[in-house]
Amino acid sequence: MSDAVQVSARVSAVHDDIVTIRLLKDEDGNFYPIIKNEVVLVCPQRTNSEFQEKLQAEVLRVRYGEADVQVFENTRGVAVGDAVEQTGEMLSVALGPGLLGQVYDGLQNPLELIAGQQGFFLPRGYAVDGIDAQQHWSFQPKVKIGSTVRAGDLLGTVQEGRFEHRILAPFNLRGQAEVSWVQEGSFTVTTPVVRLSDEAGREREVTMQQSWPVRIPVNRDLLREGYSERLFPDKPLQTSIRLIDTFFPVARGGTACIPGPFGAGKTVLQSLISRYSDVDIVVIVACGERAGEVVETITEFPNTPDPRGGTLMDRTVIICNTSSMPVAAREASIYTGITISEYYRQMGYNVLLIADSTSRWAQAMRETSGRLEEIPGEEAFPAYLESSIRALYERAGVVKTNDGREGSLTLIGTVSPAGGNFEEPVTQATLRTVKTFLGLSADRAYKRAYPAVDPLISWSRYLDQLSPWFEKELEPGWTERVHGLLKLLKQGESVQQMMEVTGEEGVTLDDYLTWQKANCLDQVYLQQDAFDPVDVSTPLARQQVLLTLLLKCLRELPPLADKAAAREYFVTLTGLMKNLNYSRMDSPDYRHYLQEIEALRGGKRSAA
Ligand code: ADP
Repeated sequence: MSDAVQVSARVSAVHDDIVTIRLLKDEDGNFYPIIKNEVVLVCPQRTNSEFQEKLQAEVLRVRYGEADVQVFENTRGVAVGDAVEQTGEMLSVALGPGLLGQVYDGLQNPLELIAGQQGFFLPRGYAVDGIDAQQHWSFQPKVKIGSTVRAGDLLGTVQEGRFEHRILAPFNLRGQAEVSWVQEGSFTVTTPVVRLSDEAGREREVTMQQSWPVRIPVNRDLLREGYSERLFPDKPLQTSIRLIDTFFPVARGGTACIPGPFGAGKTVLQSLISRYSDVDIVVIVACGERAGEVVETITEFPNTPDPRGGTLMDRTVIICNTSSMPVAAREASIYTGITISEYYRQMGYNVLLIADSTSRWAQAMRETSGRLEEIPGEEAFPAYLESSIRALYERAGVVKTNDGREGSLTLIGTVSPAGGNFEEPVTQATLRTVKTFLGLSADRAYKRAYPAVDPLISWSRYLDQLSPWFEKELEPGWTERVHGLLKLLKQGESVQQMMEVTGEEGVTLDDYLTWQKANCLDQVYLQQDAFDPVDVSTPLARQQVLLTLLLKCLRELPPLADKAAAREYFVTLTGLMKNLNYSRMDSPDYRHYLQEIEALRGGKRSAA
């Protein structure tokens, strides 16, 4: 932000982090113009800090001659009459090489760097470059002098870790521009590498970094101009978690919600999804966690091995806010994460964003709305809660980039409903927005049935939407088969309820078999052991093999005379199938268990 001091307003009231400012007039007697969402700097005069603190704030509401701004930091010592400077910019993030592997706070301050310099969190009034301005990157131009480019076109590349980072023409470039100069070599992100001359003949220097306002989709103008297109999500995100991929799939570029009562395995599930999903880049927004958990994330995550080699951190960006950070920064963090995700999507990468938790983000919005004295909606959340949630998830999707690549942004948000009450407004609005719901249940977690996603309350609209993909890539009839198995689970549950009343004797052998089959499907297929090196991840191809085998076993039962025989049979079958899951597919063990299962089915191996 520029150092030129232009005091254009003064503080007239302070209410927690909401500060009202009175605009000053210029020489012509007009108020200095101010726009909503602009960033201003509040400069407290009466603090004993050694330097002039400048507190970042965002304009929330503008009235005649006055505005309400939300300060991203503690407003201790801010007083009436304090100077306010305008930046003329909206709340923005720096986009460029060097984002991967970073841990930021909601305003893109790199936490690790600060941890080294200042202790874990930033003293008030400090801002650190989001992208290291000292580091050099080897720029390979992909344009020549005389080339014409439009917003979002490829200008050149640099190698960022294991990724080719594509430097794109500024997203706010209007119309066509001609490359009037370009240089190749090793530069910092603030060194001009290309000069563009626009239709009006204006020259513009372009660096490897650009800044973009977080509340506006990166591709807004590109889509409007038709340079880039939105595509229909038609492929699944392959998480290698059987229960998700087979029963409750999430599309690549789709949306999903995970609600989690405390201790139901939300953290483990999120980390499995980020580790094993077939995406290039993972962005994690940890919003409003306790400081201890945040520090844990920062210290643990970098060392998590990536199944594709290296560590997971090499292809991850973390945005982290503790519940002790000011509300406004918490509210902003989700947008910061989405904007960074969209940036990599626009290069043609598959990005996964996990937002944990959107409830805390919504609570931040509620606090702000309360301080602005807006008319409250349900449970004091603002009336625009649902449209804000919708707008957030709408930024997910698949796009065709300017040069015809396909990129995706899959958004998985967790909600943390107080007391596990799914009726509360944030969960309800989220459920009306997302297309997959993975309902973690405390009950299943208590029974150690992991992942503790309850198949009876979960749903996915993608199961049918992606049906053409499954039928083509796996086999015809796949979707129907899955629906059939979901039905079996429901039937099993009703037999279970019956048996709770009448005992085993009260149900028919047929019903008892249904219950046993459902139970076997649950234990063998839905449950998956995150702590077994093989079972932790089942690629889709293996899921298909397992599902086919399991279906065969459930459909063609050997003669079972009574419930005792049935029980024995299923105990043995379940045990063998579990051992199969723990064996690598190319191993002697796998072949051994397969033979055992065949022998059992043929009555050649005695049960139990
Ligand atoms: P939460 O974040 O919901 O409070 P965690 O994700 O930390 O809960 O999970 C709590 C415990 O449950 C873990 O420490 C682990 O022992 C167990 N657990 C959770 N998910 C799994 C899983 N997929 N496989 C095996 N154990 C799990």
